Amino acid sequence: MMQVMTELTPHDIASLPKALLHDHLDGGLRVSTILELSDEIGHALPTTDPDELAAWFVAGANTKDLLQYLATFEHTLAVMQTAEHCARVAHEAAVDLATDGVAYAEVRFAPELHDGGELALDDVVEAVQDGFRSGMSAAAESGQPIVVNTIICAMRQADRSVEIAELAARWRARDARIVSFDLAGPETGFPPTDHLDAVEIARRGHLHLTLHASEPPGLELIDQALQCGAERIGHGVRLYDDIAGDVATANPSTGEGVELGPLARYILERQVHLEMAPSCHVHVGAVPEFGAHPIVHWHRLGFNVGVNTDNRLMSGVSVGSEMALLAEHFDMSRGEMQAMTVAAIDAGFGDWHERQRVITEIVEPAYAAG
Ligand SMILES: [Zn+2]
Repeated sequence: MMQVMTELTPHDIASLPKALLHDHLDGGLRVSTILELSDEIGHALPTTDPDELAAWFVAGANTKDLLQYLATFEHTLAVMQTAEHCARVAHEAAVDLATDGVAYAEVRFAPELHDGGELALDDVVEAVQDGFRSGMSAAAESGQPIVVNTIICAMRQADRSVEIAELAARWRARDARIVSFDLAGPETGFPPTDHLDAVEIARRGHLHLTLHASEPPGLELIDQALQCGAERIGHGVRLYDDIAGDVATANPSTGEGVELGPLARYILERQVHLEMAPSCHVHVGAVPEFGAHPIVHWHRLGFNVGVNTDNRLMSGVSVGSEMALLAEHFDMSRGEMQAMTVAAIDAGFGDWHERQRVITEIVEPAYAAG
């Protein structure tokens, strides 16, 4: 497809349909909701000033260290320990994403982090699914329809992955909006190969598979994710270790100017989708600064990439704000934003007919209209 290199205006970025495949439910709460629910349950926060609290999350995340980044979740998880609270957060996530212009989303969460010590895992999943569905209805009623599907994560550092995969497979059989299994949490020292039984259960349950691979040893973790059968890679940004040369000056038509190692070559050939979250990659220290992020260059070289938030609260981002930064730093065009949006929806795990409808009835007409 010929891409029309039309300039992307802030109005375009805000209003044009977008997609999101990598977003954590416990990383995207509204500050007002954290304040309200903390007060209700008596949980102490670092501050009760809304602006200061929002800034605290971003400062805590922006430490160039994944483990410190993950520590900020203590306060979001604290207010997501009942079915009612989980449903509320899921409802608000669907509404907030729709408001951001996201037309197709897959949101992930780890049920084992929300059982409040006594809630059945099935009740946690049911609450989140109810919340997403009511959020989708509310968004549609307000004229901003969104599709939200769910990815169920097990935590890598814990020992419940088999139980979680069984839970996910059970739900997959009764709810088509449960689409995938994932392994989240700290990656270094916790490779996916520690959880082969869980992965096998998920695959036998016809769940799709995406696996986080963003930390060192970068190439090894990406490689292991593929060997486990991952159809998409969570982040995959350290694939840069397998790409020699300057991607910014390479010839996008021929690939001249860069030399791909075997893993990068395979990922390009197979068009394995990389769920990239540029600001998050800066925050955890995988990329030194936003302007050094490879995502747009990789897209131009033919890699199958999409723009994601990972954690909207901790990184202080939305899909729209990430798109705006990409336009500013890399002259990303309207056509390129459309292409990455369609690539993400194509790489989605949800109902195929529904995804095609989102592309042909929502995305294409909106981008054609400008
Ligand atoms: Zn993630």
